[in-house]
Amino acid sequence: MKTFAYFDSGHEFPEEIVMAAGFDPCKILGDVEIGTGPADEYLHNYFCPFARACFTEALSRAGEWAGIGFAHGCDATNRHYDVWRAHIDKPFFWVNTPMKIDATARKFHLRELENFRAGLEREYGIEISDEKLAEAIRLSNRIKNGLKRLAALRAEHDINNLEYLELMNRALTGPRQELPEELERKLDEWQQRPPFPRALEAVLLTGSDVTSPEWMEALEEAGLRVVRDDLSLGERYFRAAIPEDIPPLKALVEYYGAYPQPATRVPSDRRLQYLETAAWENDIRLVISQNLKFCEPYAIDAVWTTGVLKNKGLKIIHLEREYTPTLDQQVITRLETFKEMALQ
Ligand code: SF4
Repeated sequence: MKTFAYFDSGHEFPEEIVMAAGFDPCKILGDVEIGTGPADEYLHNYFCPFARACFTEALSRAGEWAGIGFAHGCDATNRHYDVWRAHIDKPFFWVNTPMKIDATARKFHLRELENFRAGLEREYGIEISDEKLAEAIRLSNRIKNGLKRLAALRAEHDINNLEYLELMNRALTGPRQELPEELERKLDEWQQRPPFPRALEAVLLTGSDVTSPEWMEALEEAGLRVVRDDLSLGERYFRAAIPEDIPPLKALVEYYGAYPQPATRVPSDRRLQYLETAAWENDIRLVISQNLKFCEPYAIDAVWTTGVLKNKGLKIIHLEREYTPTLDQQVITRLETFKEMALQ
């Protein structure tokens, strides 16, 4: 099956429409080992390095993809759209997802999804029926359910931070059809793991999406185990199910308002509420908030969210991190110190 790649920043892209069109969706994630060099020829370096790494990946891999979709997340998504189109010869699609979730925004969003469906039909000479969309939604829900059950095991068994990241990478970039069976097999495996290690402290992770292993390794090195999060390569992707009892495009609009919200959405209360509930559900005392350098949505939001969470009695640290494949010993030391002081 041909792959259709997409760039979004907070799980805004409607993967199910692409699946119903007969493609495997693949979230573009960049590669920290390759870096941002080729993209830096065309983009200012005050764009976040993750977005520049995504463009770097697209410049080298676009030949493998049937098309490229963008969904409006942070400013990097819409600012990049025109730049990518100027330098990559592929069919491009833009889904203008709203910043709010009120009635007007839902109406607007539904029209955008209808336009996207029509655009794919025109470009590829196909029909994307409601039946195909409903089938894609059912598959997507099976995947989300499998990921949710696996993620819940983080709090009970010895599943390290990197394994969780690798699971999410696989789910968002690989073929979808065989994924539910893969997840069932992994579930059997993870259920046999030893119990949660007593030497580690359970944490809630929030902020910019973590797409490369070094940050997860740094947390592990510091004795911090992520058992809850609200990341796009994490709970935002699987926490909510897409309704199956209403017309499929309307279901995608409803779903968009039901999952853990990213920092780009207003008002921010819903994001904060998710974090509070997640910490409370798993009896978590420590929160790791972080933003990638130049990631303004999470840097700005952190001022408010960390303040409120602190007032609720949670121990929280906020860090700005580099986009680097090197394990940063200073970061590990800061995390270790935070853990020690927070648990005194
Ligand atoms: S890291 Fe931040 S600035 Fe970069 S794409 Fe993600 S949300 Fe946007």
